[in-house]
Amino acid sequence: METIVNLSEKLNNRVFEIISEAADELQVECYVIGGFVRDIFLKRPSKDIDIVTVGRGIELAKIVAKKLGKNTRVAVFKNFGTAQIHLKKIDLEFVGARRESYQRDSRKPMVEDGSLEDDQKRRDFTINALAICLNKDRYGELADPFGGLEDMRNMLLRTPLNPDITFSDDPLRMMRAIRFACQLDFDMVPEAFEAIERNKERISIISGERIADELNKMMKSRKPSIGFRLLDACGLLDIILPEIAALKGVEMKERVGHKDNFQHTLEVLDRLADQSDNVWLRWAALFHDIGKPASKRWDDKAGWTFHNHNFIGEKMIPGIFRRMRFPMNERMKYVQKMVGLHMRPIVLSEEIVTDSAVRRLLFDAGDDIDDLMMLCEADITSKNKEKVRRFLENFQLVRQKLREIEQKDRIRNMQPPVSGELIMETFGLKPCKEVGLLKSAIKDAILDGVIPNEFEAAFAFMLERAKKMGLKPIDVGDAANR
Ligand code: ATP
Repeated sequence: METIVNLSEKLNNRVFEIISEAADELQVECYVIGGFVRDIFLKRPSKDIDIVTVGRGIELAKIVAKKLGKNTRVAVFKNFGTAQIHLKKIDLEFVGARRESYQRDSRKPMVEDGSLEDDQKRRDFTINALAICLNKDRYGELADPFGGLEDMRNMLLRTPLNPDITFSDDPLRMMRAIRFACQLDFDMVPEAFEAIERNKERISIISGERIADELNKMMKSRKPSIGFRLLDACGLLDIILPEIAALKGVEMKERVGHKDNFQHTLEVLDRLADQSDNVWLRWAALFHDIGKPASKRWDDKAGWTFHNHNFIGEKMIPGIFRRMRFPMNERMKYVQKMVGLHMRPIVLSEEIVTDSAVRRLLFDAGDDIDDLMMLCEADITSKNKEKVRRFLENFQLVRQKLREIEQKDRIRNMQPPVSGELIMETFGLKPCKEVGLLKSAIKDAILDGVIPNEFEAAFAFMLERAKKMGLKPIDVGDAANR
């Protein structure tokens, strides 16, 4: 006989007793189900509580709200047959158990009332189909018709139904499978993995936003490479992120190969994830070498080269962000900047570190300099220990120089001390090429250490440079005193 697992001691929020009372009054079967139950076993705090009743979900929510007190409001969504109650620390969602049937071209199912088991069947994985009864006579009893508890113990993702049906009905579940594998460090059972391989093309009916949402959850995991390796292994990577799939492989010529940029990228990503939770910096790590396939050349002297791959990569970012429905705002610009600049500190560390090169780097990276340094350090993945040691040592030198120069010259957020307007006023000019030339000459002089980052010096430098260009100030005294 099957042993009954009782989890009543895990339901230590008073709200469960209130729901239990309300369900008994209404005489409906009532369960807490899904992520909340899964997270009890995973010891993850969870604030979303999904309650399933066999019929009358909305009515139950209203009774619960009354019991919780006068000011408790219920939001009812009649079309979806759901009701929500938001409390201080938790969100409750009530729904009647349902049975679903799908059409091929949509992930929106036809929904009818059903039993608890019907409701559990439509869930994505057995660990997400676990339910705990809240009715008094069975309070705390686990309802687990698909072996979710066993899968939880073995850290396995298995679909309650035939995986071809589960994934084809709602292809988003393929992304969820990979996200959970990455996030929870679970394995997929082979049948599930093979079903994803067979159904991968069905991902085309899923919106970019939904895919991006899952990718972001993967990206926030402790070791994001697990997710990207799985996406690659099942063939989804080619469809949703072909630019990353294109990094795979090693080409040989005259017995010289280059490194496999896919493996390298994932190594960089994990190394960076160890250091930073900034999800956009993690995306920058994933994208840092996407310009390599397009820039790859064979040179008889130098071997394989990837000239300008950072700039090519930087230009590819907006297209990817648009397709993925990622924000096309300062976040994208940040990722572009990281990709565009990711070679700079490395190049710097290979040469004698001059003040002027450090100033230019500070100027171009601005406040993102620390993130850029972190990305660059993660990018040093050579197998040659001696080479890595040398790089890291030089890197320390670059960091030290960055600190010194920033303290001295305040370059990080430099606003040129002489503005375009002042140049125009001084020489009685309208916006024109000469104004731009003077502005960048002043900037270069500061970055190259020719003049300090100060108004007087910059103004004097401008006058001198303008003279060489044949420009005469209209009234120097007035303009300089402004
Ligand atoms: P997380 O809080 O980490 O996102 P979650 O994805 O399980 O976890 P929800 O998306 O709120 O959280 O889903 C709650 C529950 O609803 C899941 O545990 C699962 O039972 C069910 N569910 C959600 N999305 C799907 C889906 N696409 N197909 C089937 N069941 C789903």
